[in-house]
Amino acid sequence: MVSLSKLLDQGLRDAKCYEVFHPGRTCVEFQFGHSVYLITKCIKYFLPIVTVPLIIKGRNLRKKHFRNALNYYIELLVTGFLISQSVPIAQCGVRALSGKFTKGSFMFIPMILPTWVVCFTSARVARLFAASMFQVTFEAALRNGKNIIPRTLCKSKLIQGLVFMTCSSFILHAAQTCGIKALWIVKNIPRPTNSESDKCSHDGSCSRFCLKDLARNILIGIAIDLFKTIVLSFTKSKSFLNNLGKKIIKLNFPTTFFLASYSCIYTITSCLLNRLNSTQKFNAQSKHITAAFLGGISYFIMPKLTILCYAITICIEISWKIFHRHSFQKNLKYIELLKKIPFHRIYTCLSAGYLVHTYIFRPESLSPMGLAIVKAFTGDRAPEMKADIYKFFKSIQ
Ligand SMILES: [Zn+2]
Ligand SMILES: [Zn+2]
Repeated sequence: MVSLSKLLDQGLRDAKCYEVFHPGRTCVEFQFGHSVYLITKCIKYFLPIVTVPLIIKGRNLRKKHFRNALNYYIELLVTGFLISQSVPIAQCGVRALSGKFTKGSFMFIPMILPTWVVCFTSARVARLFAASMFQVTFEAALRNGKNIIPRTLCKSKLIQGLVFMTCSSFILHAAQTCGIKALWIVKNIPRPTNSESDKCSHDGSCSRFCLKDLARNILIGIAIDLFKTIVLSFTKSKSFLNNLGKKIIKLNFPTTFFLASYSCIYTITSCLLNRLNSTQKFNAQSKHITAAFLGGISYFIMPKLTILCYAITICIEISWKIFHRHSFQKNLKYIELLKKIPFHRIYTCLSAGYLVHTYIFRPESLSPMGLAIVKAFTGDRAPEMKADIYKFFKSIQ
């Protein structure tokens, strides 16, 4: 881990931008020499975001969906290009204006300034940026955390599992009772019942209820596992096909088992509790919360901090929606003021600064998803930028 304060004292403070960011090139060459490259990278990064929802629509695909997707794609391309093109301009500009490098002006502020483009985009583009960055920033902050709570959470799989199980029950309980639906592992949630009924409240038979999400999760899991294998074979080996074949033979489908076991435990426990609870000791809500909590046991099949951070992120989002709804019902005046503040856009800008700073100084704290976002923001130039910066660090150490 490199210490920024130490480097500033060692000579980074008075260094020029061309010594650190673009050795051997002028500021103008650094700022505009990659424009065509950045456009091609933006085309590559945003294409799956637009095409995958079109593929999922299948037979229901209409002309208006294509038109909508094309507008969205153009918006994403323009936003992505403006941000990645403005990063080098901000790097040299902030150094020239401040006259020296400081903790903030070295990496944090030059990343925040270009990201202000999201403040002028449409709501759907701003939402996409905010949603993808919230979770990875939360994860990086957790890994960077120095006090006892983040450190314990990062080390203990048991505590991670228990937190995931709690999140699972909160998410599914909120979906059932408040109708707040999030992008979660199971979609098929039984209807809420107030009575102490011993009958299941889901549509159709119990076996159909159990199999519906299971089939969907197996398909999604296989698709994710195969996609990850193909991408890893493509990036890590020169003999792509040979490596891909070996990896597919050894593949044990961890995501598929995780998703399938979650829906199996949740749905089967949910139905069993309804059938076995003949003494009526528990009401329908307690049974549903218990089933959702036990579904979280599947976390131990794939205990990854990224999955836990995703669950916590969803819980925060749901809590915000519940707070919003509650305040609206009570007709509180401050909620109107809060609604006007573009929290997600401000958050996106601060996150960009934090993630790139973490990428340079604590890369081990960044998840693969975080690394992909850093690359997207810098038009895939982050590794080259980091190599140039480290060359300079070595020369002054
Ligand atoms: Zn420069
Ligand atoms: Zn049932």
